[in-house]
Amino acid sequence: MTDRFYVTTPIYYINDTPHIGSAYTTIVADILAIWHRMNKEDVFFLTGLDENSIKTVQAAEKAGIKDVGKYANEMADKWKAAWKAMGFTNDDFIRTTEERHRKNVIDFFKRVNVKGDIYKGTYEGLYCEACEEFKLERECPDGKCPIHGKDLKRIKEDNYYFKLSKYRDRILKHIEEHPDFIKPAYRRSEIINFLKQGLLDTSISRPHLKWGIEFPLDRSHRFWVWFDALINYLSPKGYWPAQAQLMAKDIARFHCITWVGMLMSAEYELPETMYVHGFLTVDGRKMSKSLGNVVDPVALSEKYSTDALRYYLMRDISIGEDGDFSEKALQDRLNNEIMANYSNLFYRVTSFIEKNFGGMVPEKGEYGPAESAMLDKAGNAVQDYERHMKNIELTQALAVTVDLSAEVNKYIQDKEPWKIIKTDKNAASKSLNLATNLLRTITLMYYPFMPNRCGEALKALGVRPQWWNVERPIVPAGHKITPVMLFKKVELSVPAKPAKPQAQPKPVPKKASAPAHAVKKAEVGETKRQAERPTEAAKQPGMEEKLSAEIEKLEQSEEEMKGSGLSDIFISAGAEVPKQITMKGEKKNKKSATEKKPDKGNETDSEEKDDEEQ
Ligand SMILES: [Zn+2]
Repeated sequence: MTDRFYVTTPIYYINDTPHIGSAYTTIVADILAIWHRMNKEDVFFLTGLDENSIKTVQAAEKAGIKDVGKYANEMADKWKAAWKAMGFTNDDFIRTTEERHRKNVIDFFKRVNVKGDIYKGTYEGLYCEACEEFKLERECPDGKCPIHGKDLKRIKEDNYYFKLSKYRDRILKHIEEHPDFIKPAYRRSEIINFLKQGLLDTSISRPHLKWGIEFPLDRSHRFWVWFDALINYLSPKGYWPAQAQLMAKDIARFHCITWVGMLMSAEYELPETMYVHGFLTVDGRKMSKSLGNVVDPVALSEKYSTDALRYYLMRDISIGEDGDFSEKALQDRLNNEIMANYSNLFYRVTSFIEKNFGGMVPEKGEYGPAESAMLDKAGNAVQDYERHMKNIELTQALAVTVDLSAEVNKYIQDKEPWKIIKTDKNAASKSLNLATNLLRTITLMYYPFMPNRCGEALKALGVRPQWWNVERPIVPAGHKITPVMLFKKVELSVPAKPAKPQAQPKPVPKKASAPAHAVKKAEVGETKRQAERPTEAAKQPGMEEKLSAEIEKLEQSEEEMKGSGLSDIFISAGAEVPKQITMKGEKKNKKSATEKKPDKGNETDSEEKDDEEQ
């Protein structure tokens, strides 16, 4: 892994506010950025807006705003506010109407022009206004755009061209020689097949446009929006080449072919990896305004928490492939998986330690075969997780974490510390010590996916989330922890039915949202506060009595502990509030910057102290 990690999302069109698709790509980028920051890399995460499109002009017109610039500013504010509400940790936010971008485009163009790669010609072909791209006739035998299904316009106009065809062999060779250049592998094959059929030059200017960056060789032209937009990635000085560029499959060719050819011509280094993900449908249907099923990611975040939304998207949409969004499935993941598999486990262990050990992690004693087996499983899971995260296999990395969490649930269920505490305190201490350490491991693994609640969880464990040093089981005995309920169940409500479509679109075959890693529901042993919220377990007949019996026992043992005066031995120095990941640049407005500095006295990761001063 490199010391530097520069990740980009595509820049988004401003003819509308963010939808779940753009949020999805940005979530992937954010997860990667957080993970690489945890690995002490110099991370730069760029996202932004593509404002020079004809779509902007049309949208402004539609909104009745004459001044396109004013419209662009208003929309940019909305996008920024949405991304802030989603808590994204981007280091910069580029708008292609900014002067720094215009300068970059002109500089880039000069480099390409000097190479003799620009010429003037007349183009006649089929043009899709939605894609803002000339289409190959061989790909549109019915005269419709394969992506938008709209009739293509036959356009004949004078354009300036970029000699993209000149770079075909080099592009193909690079892709073939670098198996990791385009991921996943099947998207790589698609691009290779496309290139093998030949490559045409691409128009980089359009006449008669009033909006966009002026074309230096001919003032009656403006840059074709894609040539301009792709150059945004060069904006953060000192970070190019990117380690990961993310995009949905409809814009893969612009990135994996056009952009690569442009970079070759202008003699820039190439990015390390282009990651192409699929499309999202909503309840089996294409998302569109006319169907009334456009999903607002900010509203979902407010309703379910950004963490739950991120978790759901990474878990149910197998990364790279097309997937279906369903609010019902999101509710299920939160109520039945995040709650049972992680949140309840966390609360159960931490509150039991609070009640019975004064909130101090109990003695480890000697780990037995069950503990060794559990540590082996955790070690393997961590290795798998790291491999998947490096390969942008986020669904797989999350699945590994969910599985490990289920194993820890099973372990603690088998050991039943709440039962044996009266008869064998050492055994109970041992299993709780291990469980606490594994909670830390799991929480660090979940952290990039659910940074808000896992940040709280790590605070509760008195551990700072900065660094990925999971291999060290380092929550020592006597360390102060505090119980916390991380998630809340949401009321199951039937999401609003999408409006009846005018034209019946083909239902998209629903992907098996593979509960391949389905997790057993949390079992008994819940504490009282938890029991107040009916858990899945509690709802099952017979379980309720079991649960209340456990609680009774718990309270009894608590009374006994008090009586023995044992809890007084463990005097807490007060819960520390660890700082969250430090961000670069304009981080001041980020939540993390306002966190109180930790009390170093109870810090577990000594290595981290050195870095705190930075
Ligand atoms: Zn199109």
